[in-house]
Amino acid sequence: MQFKSTLPSSSPGFAMPLISFKDAVLQCLPPEGGLYVPSSVMDMRQFFLYMDANTTYPELVETLTPALLQGDLNPVSATLLAQSAFSFEPELMQLDEHFSLLKLYNGPTGLFKDFGTGFLAAAMEEFLKNNGQSMVLSAVRDDTGVSIARAFAGRQNIICCLLYPSGPIRGLDLSTFVPNGGNILPIQIRGTFDDCQRLITECIYDTSFAERYHITTANARNPGRLLPQSFYYIYAFLKLKKQLPGGLIFSVPSGNFGNLIAGLYAWKFGLPVSGFVAAMNANNSVGDFIQGKSFKPKPPIATISPGLDVAVPSNYERLSSFYTEAPAVMRNMVFPASIDDKTTVDTIGQVWKKYGVLLDPHAAVGFAAAECLLEARNLSSSDVHIVVLATGHPAIEGILIKEITGQTIKMPERLIALRKKIDPIAIIDPQLDALESAIASCV
Ligand SMILES: *Cc1c(COP(=O)(O)O)cnc(C)c1O
Repeated sequence: MQFKSTLPSSSPGFAMPLISFKDAVLQCLPPEGGLYVPSSVMDMRQFFLYMDANTTYPELVETLTPALLQGDLNPVSATLLAQSAFSFEPELMQLDEHFSLLKLYNGPTGLFKDFGTGFLAAAMEEFLKNNGQSMVLSAVRDDTGVSIARAFAGRQNIICCLLYPSGPIRGLDLSTFVPNGGNILPIQIRGTFDDCQRLITECIYDTSFAERYHITTANARNPGRLLPQSFYYIYAFLKLKKQLPGGLIFSVPSGNFGNLIAGLYAWKFGLPVSGFVAAMNANNSVGDFIQGKSFKPKPPIATISPGLDVAVPSNYERLSSFYTEAPAVMRNMVFPASIDDKTTVDTIGQVWKKYGVLLDPHAAVGFAAAECLLEARNLSSSDVHIVVLATGHPAIEGILIKEITGQTIKMPERLIALRKKIDPIAIIDPQLDALESAIASCV
């Protein structure tokens, strides 16, 4: 698979440079701006035909990875990568003839993001195995920091530097830090999350710095996190394919829209999907864009589904590139819905009563948005089956869920450990030279 930038080439008449998945992962951002997207996708239908409901998730990853990474890795290395990427699996739970839940919260941090970071870290280690090294710089808050740190801890030839905004740092394992012989380097920035992001972008575009340290990032801009998220859409299809009455639709709680875009990749690979619900909370600026209007970001609003509180999605350029290529197809494929907090709360209560299943607020937004689609299009269960992505572990929002349903959710051990505060290795101003000396003093 080859990748190109979402930005058109700045020199007219020159074709867009194409790069390999490996280079896109190790560079992360195109030198002239934009984000990397696949330039053409592979037709994977032959695999969807011979895999079935008995195919396990590890088998699926071992089948797809060598095919997708042809040219970047030999089949043996691609299989090794697949084997080392995940220590956890998605879980499909059918609720009734209308709905299934795809639980994506079995990873170390209880968030679906563990699937992207897990694969990215394993892929980088495999790419760098014989020659090379890399420094992964990422702006993070608590849970994403832990997700990235868990995925990268102990990976050979990689230093993983996490930039935290002011405020506590939680959930990391001291023994994995660089001064203790590990490869994780948490640094606190006196500033905001945006300051951390800006500093990283500065590092990437400062060519001498980027080349000296072989900089890339593990944030959602890295295509190495997006690609593997397409796998679980395929997994859900395989579990259901024998019993699908009509079309298959995925309802995706969306903030930065990485998950939805990964679903669109799966569709481009040939997965027979009829459509997607872009499930948003009150932060719904992208909805207008999906329906054909121009994108006008509104100020962010705090809601009870914080993972979706994004005013300007970091994947906007990727989403927009899908719409530029085929606006009418995309408008038919993606149904936007915006769910308010009251409906989210009501949905958690109703789903508990009806199915005895506890949804976290993000999944509840997905469920409520799916119901909007059924109603708007007057669809019955013989027309479609909707898979709602459960992106977060219900225990993370256990207090809210208990208020609504009266049910206590036991917090898994691994998630309790995430709350433990820990000191960073350095605290610096948001400046390139300060970051460079902090790094130089450790590695
Ligand atoms: C990050 C997150 C989302 C949003 O996913 P995007 O890929 O950014 O759209 C949804 N749910 C939860 C629980 C999250 O942490």
